Amino acid sequence: MTANILVVEDEPAIQELLAFNISQCGYRAIEAYDADGAWTHINHALPDLILLDWMLPGSSGVELARRLRADQRTRNIPIIMLTARTDERDKILGLESGADDYITKPFSPRELMARVRAVLRRRAPQMSDETVAAGGLELSPAMHRINANGAMIDLGPTEFRLLHFFMTHPERVYSRSQLLDQVWGDHVFVEERTVDVHIRRLRQALEPYSLDGLVQTVRGSGYRFSCN
Ligand code: CA
Repeated sequence: MTANILVVEDEPAIQELLAFNISQCGYRAIEAYDADGAWTHINHALPDLILLDWMLPGSSGVELARRLRADQRTRNIPIIMLTARTDERDKILGLESGADDYITKPFSPRELMARVRAVLRRRAPQMSDETVAAGGLELSPAMHRINANGAMIDLGPTEFRLLHFFMTHPERVYSRSQLLDQVWGDHVFVEERTVDVHIRRLRQALEPYSLDGLVQTVRGSGYRFSCN
């Protein structure tokens, strides 16, 4: 699964440099030049990570980070702050506003991308290509393969992403709207009922191996992947 990285940066040269390095790493770059532009993208689809410049025209990067952390829907998006400031107090302020990491300009693109990968691995494990195992299932994103108690099972692309997300986020309840954000990435054009359809297909695929019980319905809340 390709991670979408929203770059909020008003300097075109830096935007371009970042977009180039992001695509070289196999991710997709989305451009925004200020906080309003960033919200337009976020309202449409949640990015997997935000590279956020501190100094923006209008609302600052720190203010945007605070708003993202205060909103239930955007609270968990990983943020890396780009800052020209080297003052220790400013770094602390950046981290206190909710950034996961920060990098000081001028930065080395290689170092920045290493940090992007590290933050994604930590905060968005469903973006990783590492094999995950849980409850008798073994899922390999790189090979696009799922092994259920020793047998290969076939899943459609959406069910595959859904199962990958569940396996990397076990024992937690997700609402339909959260699953749309996390698995479909599209907040606007997909109906919540769609989630139920794909959950049903996923359970049907797991049923022959008696593993359909891993995907649990939590009445009034949503769904949970649980090995208990
Ligand atoms: Ca700037």
